[in-house]
Amino acid sequence: MTDEQGTAGAILVVGGGISGLTAALEAAEVGNDVFLIEKNAYFGGRVAQLNQYFPKLCPPSCGLEINFRRIKDNRKIRTYTMTTVKSISGSPGNYEVTLEIAPRYVNSNCTACGECAAACPDEIDNTFNFGMDKTTAAYLPHEMAFPRRYVISKEGLSAEGAEAVKSACKYNAVDLDMQVQTITVNVGSVVWTTGWTPYDPTNMDNLKYDQSKAIVTNMEIERMASPSGPTGGAIVRPGDDKEIESIAFVQCAGSRDENHLEYCSHICCTATMKQMTYVRERYPEAKIYVFYIDLRTPGKYEKFAEKLKADENAEFIKGKVAEIIPEADGGVTVVAEDTIAGGKHQQKVDLAVLATGMQPSLAVDGAPVELNMDSNSFVVPDFDKGMISAGCAKKAADVVTATQSSTAAALKAIQVSGR
Ligand SMILES: Cc1cc2nc3c(=O)[nH]c(=O)nc-3n(C[C@H](O)[C@H](O)[C@H](O)COP(=O)(O)OP(=O)(O)OC[C@H]3O[C@@H](n4cnc5c(N)ncnc54)[C@H](O)[C@@H]3O)c2cc1C
Ligand code: SF4
Ligand code: SF4
Repeated sequence: MTDEQGTAGAILVVGGGISGLTAALEAAEVGNDVFLIEKNAYFGGRVAQLNQYFPKLCPPSCGLEINFRRIKDNRKIRTYTMTTVKSISGSPGNYEVTLEIAPRYVNSNCTACGECAAACPDEIDNTFNFGMDKTTAAYLPHEMAFPRRYVISKEGLSAEGAEAVKSACKYNAVDLDMQVQTITVNVGSVVWTTGWTPYDPTNMDNLKYDQSKAIVTNMEIERMASPSGPTGGAIVRPGDDKEIESIAFVQCAGSRDENHLEYCSHICCTATMKQMTYVRERYPEAKIYVFYIDLRTPGKYEKFAEKLKADENAEFIKGKVAEIIPEADGGVTVVAEDTIAGGKHQQKVDLAVLATGMQPSLAVDGAPVELNMDSNSFVVPDFDKGMISAGCAKKAADVVTATQSSTAAALKAIQVSGR
């Protein structure tokens, strides 16, 4: 165990997605020491997995890279990947936090030359692409990963693979004996920016996610649409690579349902509109069906939604999907109660996309320490204790709203830490 002393007023930011990056930068750029920790091997969170951002439809790199550069240039921020909180003791203004750093098996000598991956005979599921393809057990987590350093999955490595990656590295960067490391930091307050996880689609038996390759989630289609994704940007049916002539978007898949997520996930209607543009770009003639309860594209996203609603080859059906039925030809039939036209609406399509909601990560992983949480496990800020939340750890939100709340959280953290 080592001690990394924070000065008075230091702040710990837990979670290095767009919210954590923003909170860390806002606090550091006015002079506070910041420890920014991230459990993944890279910073950027879920935004790094998106193909494009709404409403401007620019690639995620345009938002993330500038933040990475500012972080690299700021000596007040100390960054730690593959790191989680183990325990916190003390009181507001004077906390001692124990952090646990998981082994990456690649040290700071790594130049990201890629020779270890080229030599590695072993493959593992590519979690960045939701397991839709494989990667070698020595890998760069994704194309624009920051830090730009390889990772090794030791569990995924055979004895032969271990020898191959070690001898491929000319920089002495592979260290398969690396151990879990523990450090302590002293901080005045903690900002929780642990974000969200896609709601598990297998929880909804009626939507049959695990029974047909023609049913994917909204995050999976983001990865398919991405040029660096599992299909190199092609939106085709997994399994048989069929080009898409018809597609259905199933809104509120898990959200606004007391058996699953009782709240509205806020972004999935606008995300569907965005994904309609991906489909249209690739298939000008494809039929698009959107099954919804209400279309919620609030405020600034209304204009964006209006354009998509005017698409002549798109049909919007107001009705909650009751069932998806896998068909013998590889397609699926979506069944819903049409609340405007009345009666049952059955629509056969090549591909169905479940607009699964955003669940707070801590609802799935559990909180490492006792936190003030609501019944859905969103973190409620406790300013007296200096435990502050922002972004999707606080509530389901788009990037603009998440970063605004991160700026506000940084301000609060500075106030508590300076007490
Ligand atoms: C299908 C879909 C499409 C979307 N498209 C858009 C869009 O086009 N435009 C837009 O504005 N928004 C979009 N969003 C919403 C956007 O993804 C969120 O607003 C954004 O991810 C919020 O960032 P965050 O930093 O709060 O959370 P996250 O992106 O989830 O980042 C949280 C980070 O914390 C880390 N973490 C979690 N737990 C721990 C822990 N215990 N210890 C350490 N680290 C931890 C995670 O690994 C992650 O890196 C979309 C959402 C969905 C579902
Ligand atoms: S671990 Fe070695 S071989 Fe692999 S990318 Fe880094 S420097 Fe190159
Ligand atoms: S944003 Fe739309 S799809 Fe998502 S939960 Fe709310 S109403 Fe349902």
